[in-house]
Amino acid sequence: MTDKASPSSEEKHTIRMQKLKEKVDARVDAATEERGILIVITGNGKGKSTSGFGTVTRAVGHGLKAGVAQFIKGTWDSGERNLLEKNGVVFHVMNTGFTWNTQDKTQDIEAATKVWAETKKMLADETIDLVLLDELTYMLSYKYLDLDEVIEAIVNRPVNQHVIVTGRACHRSLLELADTVSEVQPTKHAFNAGIKAQKGIDW
Ligand code: ATP
Ligand code: MG
Repeated sequence: MTDKASPSSEEKHTIRMQKLKEKVDARVDAATEERGILIVITGNGKGKSTSGFGTVTRAVGHGLKAGVAQFIKGTWDSGERNLLEKNGVVFHVMNTGFTWNTQDKTQDIEAATKVWAETKKMLADETIDLVLLDELTYMLSYKYLDLDEVIEAIVNRPVNQHVIVTGRACHRSLLELADTVSEVQPTKHAFNAGIKAQKGIDW
C-alpha cells in the first residue's frame, strides 16, 4: 500500500530536479563576464589532444577562426590536420617527430622555437578566436621554451581569444593561470592490452 501523504519517487525526482534547475539558473545568471578563457587538458589518460581538436572543430563549426600549434608531433599523417586545414585552420607543426626518434636536442629546440615564433603571432592576432597549443607542456618541462615568455604571451593575448593547452604534467604556473583545467585519468588503455595505435582513433 502506498502512503498518499508522502511523495512518490517520481515526485521526489521532479522536486529535486526543480531545485537543481533553480540553482543552475542562478549560477547562469551570475555568470555575466564574457572573455577568452585559458583551458588546460592534462593528465596521463587518452583524450587530451582529441578534446583540444574537438573544441577547434566546434569553434570552426560556429564560423570562428582557429589556429593550431603542434609541439613534438608532425612527421605522420594527422586526421585532424587533414580535415581542419581544408576548413581554414592554420597549422604550425614541429617537423621533428618524437625527440626519442631524433635524439637531437639542438634540432628539437630550433624546431620548437620556430613554431613558438608563429604561435606568438597567433597569440597577438585579434582575428583569431581560438588557439590550440597541442603538446605545449613538454616544451616547458624539457625547457625548450622559456616559461616566462610563454606565460607573458598568453596573458597579453587579445581579451576575447581562447587558448587551449594540452599535454601531460602541465607546469603549475600554467595551471594557476588557467580558467579551466581538466585532468584525464588513464583508467584503461587498449595499448596495454597489446592493441596497436589505430588510424582515426589515435592519430
Ligand atoms: P589523444 O590524441 O588520443 O587525445 P592524448 O593527447 O591524450 O591522446 P598523448 O599523450 O598526446 O595523449 O599521446 C598520444 C598518443 O598516445 C595517442 O595515440 C594516444 O592514444 C596514446 N596514449 C594516450 N594516453 C595513453 C596511455 N595512457 N597509454 C598508452 N597510450 C596512450
Ligand atoms: Mg596529445
